[in-house]
Amino acid sequence: MKVLFPDVDWHAVVEALQQAQSIHLIAHVNPDADTLGSQLALYHALNTMGKSVFMHNVDATPRICQYLSGIENIQNGLQVNEEADVVVAVDAGSLARLGMDKVYFEDKKLINIDHHASNKHYGDINLVDARYCATGAMIYDLLPHLNIALDADIAAAIYAAILTDTASFRLSSVTADVHRMVADLIDAGADVGMASQSIYQSHKKERFDLLGLALKNLALSHHGQAAWMHVDYATYEQTQMTAEDSEGFIDYVRSIDGVNIAVFLREESPYEWKISLRGKAPCHVGELASSLGGGGHQYAAGCTMHGSYSEVYEKLQQYVSHALKQ
Ligand code: 5GP
Ligand code: MN
Repeated sequence: MKVLFPDVDWHAVVEALQQAQSIHLIAHVNPDADTLGSQLALYHALNTMGKSVFMHNVDATPRICQYLSGIENIQNGLQVNEEADVVVAVDAGSLARLGMDKVYFEDKKLINIDHHASNKHYGDINLVDARYCATGAMIYDLLPHLNIALDADIAAAIYAAILTDTASFRLSSVTADVHRMVADLIDAGADVGMASQSIYQSHKKERFDLLGLALKNLALSHHGQAAWMHVDYATYEQTQMTAEDSEGFIDYVRSIDGVNIAVFLREESPYEWKISLRGKAPCHVGELASSLGGGGHQYAAGCTMHGSYSEVYEKLQQYVSHALKQ
């Protein structure tokens, strides 16, 4: 196994993990397969090292990730393991993304492992590197430093992380080395068919009723350079769907020819909009999201905004104009 980036200094992270007795692993709110896969891969590795490991996330695990081994051990809600001396946050660009106040971590060493360029370096130890296509790929590089070999459970978890964070190997973050790493994961037992089926072929039929309603409001602006789609709270209620069921809708918005910035807005609770932004080179959306209090990567980012749809649209539209001119 060849690491992706041999120049990364894992020393502080390795020392803290080796010294810890009890470790609390936490993913970000609305967890996706990258944060969960990273959490699970670390969970299996640290268990093998004989550590007492506790996994906890504020929000529930999405259905599409339920096939991953160990996932049933993740607890939800607001809590922190009192016994833990180290907390590891994976794939979370800011403390707010953990959904928990700093007070929960006060007497614990907080390790922040993440690949978002917008990361706020909120940990006691911060291993942030935006060259990685996924946080799961960072865990892949960490393993040899912990003297842990890939096994089928770890490989499956990391594979899910990379598959989804690269939009199925379609983004420019996917290098030849990423493909070599994926080959290694498959050799170690990652089941590609199982991952595809669980992640991309296990949707409820109602998701497509919701998609049909959303597609009706798909619209262009800025002479076709920007595209917009939204799902309001009433529509989620009417279809008995949740925000989780609209995961991936942004890909339809992005896929339109000539669109350089794609926006998907979902009203998770009345007047609270979660905004997904995607850019196509050379149009970046990372700074746009950051200036609205969110964050992410250059070409995939998000934030939360409050107000009626037209209020949020009006405001966002100006930011999009600005980003298109950059
Ligand atoms: P998505 O649109 O898939 O929810 O998110 C796209 C990217 O932006 C992900 O890498 C995600 O971590 C990041 N992101 C989305 N929403 C927020 C936010 O509110 N704050 C921060 N810091 N990052 C976000
Ligand atoms: Mn990620």
